[in-house]
Amino acid sequence: DDMDVDTIWQDGEFVDWDDAQVHVLTHGLHYGTGVFEGVRCYDTEKGPAIFRWDEHLERFYQSGKPYNMEIPFSREELTEATLELIRRQDLESCYIRPIAFYGYDSLGVSPRDCPVDVAIAAWPWGAYLGEEALEKGVDVMVSSWRKHSSSQIPTNAKTTGLYVNSLLAGEEARRNGYVEAIVLNKEGQVAEGPGENIFLVRDGEIYTPGLSQSILDGITRQTAITLARELGYTVHDDATISRGELNTADELFFSGTAAEVTPIRKVDNVVIGDGSRGPVTAELQQAFFDLVERRTDDHEEWFTYVE
Ligand code: PMP
Repeated sequence: DDMDVDTIWQDGEFVDWDDAQVHVLTHGLHYGTGVFEGVRCYDTEKGPAIFRWDEHLERFYQSGKPYNMEIPFSREELTEATLELIRRQDLESCYIRPIAFYGYDSLGVSPRDCPVDVAIAAWPWGAYLGEEALEKGVDVMVSSWRKHSSSQIPTNAKTTGLYVNSLLAGEEARRNGYVEAIVLNKEGQVAEGPGENIFLVRDGEIYTPGLSQSILDGITRQTAITLARELGYTVHDDATISRGELNTADELFFSGTAAEVTPIRKVDNVVIGDGSRGPVTAELQQAFFDLVERRTDDHEEWFTYVE
């Protein structure tokens, strides 16, 4: 494995990597009944700081709601566990993965008597789509797979089972030589990436699909909207974007905890703008990294320092 992790927090205890096991009859393994989060901790001037932990934790609990899944640990317990996990492993910047899933009891589809198991891991993780992608942008394809509709499965909950769709779209793109996919919703409008939200810039204004478009309401999406407005841009955060508008956009970019703010330079081999990181994307990306690496004092409320 390529994950440099020696300690994992599992159901209330810190355990060694080798001991962080689950049973093969785990409900979540068979039916995708888990919820999870992806969070980043940045190495700042004031030491490691977790970005928007409270919002991620809130989404974590909310994701369990449609599945009647009550996470049997408090916010304080999960926060302390995460901080301790970072300290114990001497991590500076890292990616944090909390997960809760129905564990082993019986294998009916109903998880009735299954326990809710919870684990948290943290490990160093660089730029998701590559360091170069942040500067030069990525080539993407519009997937032939559609995203599940919010009328079929709650797309606003970050559920493990949803990610088979992300895998199909992302791997199709990579088999065809692209870095990532853009996924349309069931109505054929632009939804998001397999693990990213998408933004479009046209005539100096910014557009991103609204929550009714079967997207996950990304925390980086919310951050980008706030930062863009603070920079004076008009942001349409409830947009409906048709496939053709991707090709005619001045700029496109992805947002996500893993992908951060990544420019898109081509869609289906059609060059977007002048085929490089556009000026609005560059400005927002700069604002984003200045924020998360704490080169500004703005939004101190979004940071949980590890100490
Ligand atoms: N959409 C999907 C499907 C995702 O998996 C993610 C990653 N969590 C995002 C959007 C971006 O969300 P966030 O900014 O909260 O990481």
